[in-house]
Amino acid sequence: GTQVQWRPFDRSGVYMSDLESALHYSLRVEVAARSVIAGPALDALRSYISVLAKVNFFSLSLSLSLSHERTLDPTAALPRGVRWVGCQGSRPHFRGYPCSVWTLFHLLTVQALETGSSGPLEVLWTMRRYMHNFFGCRYCATHFEQMAEENMDSVTMLSEAVIWLWARHNQVNNRLAGDLSEDPHFPKIQWPPPDQCRECHGVKGGGEHAWNQAQVLAFLRSHYSAQHLNMTYLE
Ligand code: FAD
Repeated sequence: GTQVQWRPFDRSGVYMSDLESALHYSLRVEVAARSVIAGPALDALRSYISVLAKVNFFSLSLSLSLSHERTLDPTAALPRGVRWVGCQGSRPHFRGYPCSVWTLFHLLTVQALETGSSGPLEVLWTMRRYMHNFFGCRYCATHFEQMAEENMDSVTMLSEAVIWLWARHNQVNNRLAGDLSEDPHFPKIQWPPPDQCRECHGVKGGGEHAWNQAQVLAFLRSHYSAQHLNMTYLE
């Protein structure tokens, strides 16, 4: 079969290469697959670009890449293909793009909290509309829409947006644990595990597990911060 080179990586890292690959795939493959983008899809794309452009370290590659689409300028800064690192799967059909989409939107909710550059629901609405209009996995989009419909409007602060997405992602992890789509080398767990954040885990009166949400928020702010981004394996 097609054996790709394995890139050793730190499982507690967040890799810029995965984020750039997410942008490459979403803009050059997923969005580009549409022959016509109008109406709600165009609004979804505009809000995606606008949220991305607010994050400093994406602005440069994004503007170069968009001008590249128009002028065929070969100096465009986005990579020409995908290079998964933290999102590598043990087989080609595992992980990759969906993993990088989660990573990207967690990072965007945290960046919005750090900079205060958007309203509490802007990133979540952008993700919701991106999923609905463009995401290739249609049942994923449907599931996400159901979760969003249920309680996304309860979010009133930027910090709650970070926690909302974390909690929904764990809900998805829980649903997919043991599923055929699960990479056996990357089992679906309730995240972050104690070895990444001991203080995030506590117990309730009855002895059951309870998250310490203040600690989870602090952990997410550090994990998805610009300073924590790992820049190895970039082109
Ligand atoms: P992922 O779940 O993709 O997570 C990527 C990384 O994020 C992890 O490696 C970890 O570092 C970090 N992480 C994990 N949990 C959290 C958390 N709670 N908060 C913050 N960071 C976390 N697949 C289906 O088969 N059915 C579905 O219905 C479905 N729905 C999806 C909905 C959305 C919105 C997306 C983006 C993907 C969906 N997928 C679905 C794909 C699935 O969720 C995984 O992305 C895919 O199986 C790859 O899993 P992974 O092991 O790379 O980890």
